[in-house]
Order: sequence, then structure tokens, then C-alpha cells
Amino acid sequence: MTADRHVAVVPGDDAAPEAVDATMSVLEQLALPVTWTVLKPGESLTAELADASDTVLFGSSNGHTGGLMQLRFGWGTYANVRPVRYIPGVPSSLRRPDDVDYVIVHEALEDVYAGIEGPLSRLAAAGVDLTTQYETAGTRLRYPFTAAGEGVYGIKIYTREGVERVARFAAALALRRKAQGHAGRVTIGGKWNVNPGTDGFFHDVARAVIEETPGVACDSCLADDLGRRFVMSPEQFDVVLLPNLLGDVLSDVGAGTVGGLGMAPSGGYGDSRAYFEPVHGSAPDIAGRNVINPTATLLSAAMMLDHLGLTDAAQRLDSAVRTVISAGDCATPDLGGTASTGEFARAVAGSC
Ligand code: NAD
Ligand code: MN
Repeated sequence: MTADRHVAVVPGDDAAPEAVDATMSVLEQLALPVTWTVLKPGESLTAELADASDTVLFGSSNGHTGGLMQLRFGWGTYANVRPVRYIPGVPSSLRRPDDVDYVIVHEALEDVYAGIEGPLSRLAAAGVDLTTQYETAGTRLRYPFTAAGEGVYGIKIYTREGVERVARFAAALALRRKAQGHAGRVTIGGKWNVNPGTDGFFHDVARAVIEETPGVACDSCLADDLGRRFVMSPEQFDVVLLPNLLGDVLSDVGAGTVGGLGMAPSGGYGDSRAYFEPVHGSAPDIAGRNVINPTATLLSAAMMLDHLGLTDAAQRLDSAVRTVISAGDCATPDLGGTASTGEFARAVAGSC
């Protein structure tokens, strides 16, 4: 007998607790070797409880429920994994959604999300040259920001270590997916045409790491065109590696092609810890109505069970969700149905 895993469950705010509650009703029925510590809606996760748990399932916070920053920056979960996979039966904005099955991996600790912001005057006082300097056909174009008066800055940071570790993660994921029949390819996205110093660095460092991984192919695509391809030819992707901001934004585009935010799970992975949460926010506009689609939270939970080594249970949960959605007679309103959150969860529990 292996000892129980300890999982902390954070319902979060607005409609998120309804999705978490539905997910817990399915998980409890699976009778897993897990001790669950389920917080109350709106209750913050303490660093002590997080650190005493093997992993965390986080609903979603509107800023009231705290703890997410501990899971990201405290735990160093640098790789955010967001599968974009079409489940047959879901109304899609795409003409041919059936082959959409890729994974966005975005770096999660660096970029502008480091939160280093302030007034422009502070940079000027530190002696930073605030003049845009572009060379075009031998002419130096200068746009002096200081002359524009009051303003603010935000710093975008990529470190070699930060890019290398998330690229290693993406390459390892592509290898695992290749063993399951996928292409085994990482597509790097970014804006190295505009920002060769930063996004060019991200691209070059990531590519060098991926090319060192035998069996994994690598290509790249500017982020703007990547957004277009997510909509027009998403079947071409396997693993897509992006910096933090672009990955966060483009993963909502990906979600929009496979039925919306109600369908998009995620996991945040570091070297030793991982936590799981739906991509969506707290959905305040539908709170209290028992209509939030719990699929994103259920699929995040399936990723969590996989991480805990409970592979069979992960697969049972994943395929139960697919079975219920594909059957087409029990869908929440975001998927065009009339089922409540609870009804959908009971159907999933019945299919596990
Ligand atoms: P949101 O994701 O909460 O909602 C966007 C739209 O999608 C809303 O119309 C909502 O009803 C709908 N939606 C989202 N999830 C759904 C689901 N599972 N089923 C059915 N419909 C669903 O984004 P928002 O409204 O921009 O943000 C609301 C709050 O959530 C904000 O405070 C924001 O900061 C926060 N937020 C938190 C996280 C997080 O905790 N990781 C992520 C994104 C947003
Ligand atoms: Mn987001």
C-alpha cells in the first residue's frame, strides 16, 4: 500500500466554486488513495497548507482568494501546460475541428509578468536611455519617450536558465506525445522581428535546447501568424512553446476554437511541484446559477491525477468527460445545452 497523496482544493471565487464542487463530487466517487483538504469558497490557500500538500487543485480567483502566487512563484512552476483538444460534439467556430489536438506550453515566471513596473521618471533618473533606436536603410529613427512627459514602464525579462528549462520541458512533452502517435514537434512562437534582443533570445535559446533532443523536430512561427494558424489550420500543431504573455493570451484563442473557456484545462509544472487549474477566470457573470461548465476543472483534475501517478483514474475521468460530451444530450449552456453544472457532473460520474 502506498500512502495517500494529500491534495489541497481551493474553490476560489464567483462561479468557480460551483465547478470545483461538481468536480469533487466526481473525484470522491472514484475512491482514490487521496486525502482531500477542501477549503471554503473565497478561502485563501496558505503557503503552509500548499507546502504540506502533494499538489493543489485551484478553482479560480477574482483577486479575493489568495494563494496562486505561492503556487507559481513560491513553487517555481515555470511551465504552464494548456492542452487544446477538440471533443467531438462540441459546437466549434472551426470548419474542421476534429483534428485539433495540440498543447500550448508557456513560460510562467518571467516576461512582463515579473511585475516590475513604475514611472518613466524612475528609469530616466537611473540614467536609462529612453530613446527608441531603429536603423532603417541607413537612417537612424529616434523617438524620445522622455519628451512625451508622464509615462510608465514595464520590464520584460527572459533569462537563459528560464528559457532553457521551459524549452527542455516542451521537448520532453513532445517526446512523450510522439510515443502516443503525435508528430513530436515543438513550434516556438514570439515576436523576434520586432524585439530581436528579447524574443530573438527566447527563440534562439529555446531552439538550441530543442534541437539537442533526439527525435523531436523544431520549427518557429511569429506570434501574429500563430494566432491566425490557431484559427485556420490548427491541426498542424503538436507542442507550441511561447513566452508568458503571448502564451497566456493565445491559449484563450486556442480555447475559443474547441468550445470556449469551459473546455480548457491547465497545469503549472516546476522541477519538483505542480498545481492544476482551469484556464478560465471566476466567471462572475454566471455566478450562483449552477450553469458553469465544469469540464475545464474536471480535465485539470485528470491532469492532476496523471501527475500523481494515478494514471488509470486520470484516463477514466478524461474518457468519461469525452463520452458525456460526445453523447450530446447533457451539455451546459456554453455548449448549447440546458444541463446544469450538477447534472453534467452526475452524468460524468455515471460514466466513470
Ligand atoms: P472569465 O474566464 O472569468 O470569463 C470570461 C467569459 O467566459 C465569461 O462570460 C464567463 O461566464 C465565461 N466562462 C468562463 N469560464 C466558463 C465556464 N467554465 N463555463 C461557462 N462559461 C465560462 O474571465 P473574465 O470575466 O475576464 O475574468 C473574471 C475574473 O477572473 C477576473 O477577476 C480575472 O482577473 C480573473 N481571472 C482569474 C484567472 C485565474 O485565477 N487563473 C484567470 C483568468 C481570469
Ligand atoms: Mn489567461
